[in-house]
Amino acid sequence: MPTPSQLSLTQLIAQINRCQLCHEQLPLATKPIVQLHSHAKILIAGQAPGRKTHDIGRPFDDASGKRLRDWLGVTEGQFYNPQLFAILPMGFCYPGTYSAEQNKRGDKPPLKQCADHWRQAVLAQLTQVELTLLVGKYAIDWHLQQPTTVTESVQQWQQFWPDTLVLPHPSPRNNIWLKRHPEFALQVLPQLKTRVKDLLS
Ligand code: SF4
Repeated sequence: MPTPSQLSLTQLIAQINRCQLCHEQLPLATKPIVQLHSHAKILIAGQAPGRKTHDIGRPFDDASGKRLRDWLGVTEGQFYNPQLFAILPMGFCYPGTYSAEQNKRGDKPPLKQCADHWRQAVLAQLTQVELTLLVGKYAIDWHLQQPTTVTESVQQWQQFWPDTLVLPHPSPRNNIWLKRHPEFALQVLPQLKTRVKDLLS
């Protein structure tokens, strides 16, 4: 049986779609949600599908996605074109939410096995990617390999620019953060829009 790194992107996608690696830890059936094509120039590295995304089967098909597309200056048609945008969360399947006894709120983190098993192999096949957008702490930690917060990363956005950019989560739940950090909209977003336009033209 070949390892993921020995597979082509087409073979990887087929195997990911059949993956059952951590099904015992998932609350619902496995349903990997990724968008991949070898021509994609922009990679969105997110966290893991939420329940709604699991049901719909399409990433960022919600208010967060609408805001993200506004930030990028792209249409839905462009965003969901795999030849333009690769979407690769840290965990491909919905990981479930915390229970009341666990004393935490929200979705559980992406299952680590997923990135351990698939991520390097998939990224190695995305050879045309020129801009990687990191959304959320798990993607930041994995890709940047240095301890930092979303706020610090966004404030130091030029550090990895123009190859990589950390974004705050575009969720409406992040409105307070966005209000407290107007420099993101004033300084970062115009640069992002210009870069995306150049890459897609
Ligand atoms: S989360 Fe990833 S590793 Fe786990 S079953 Fe889904 S695709 Fe496989």
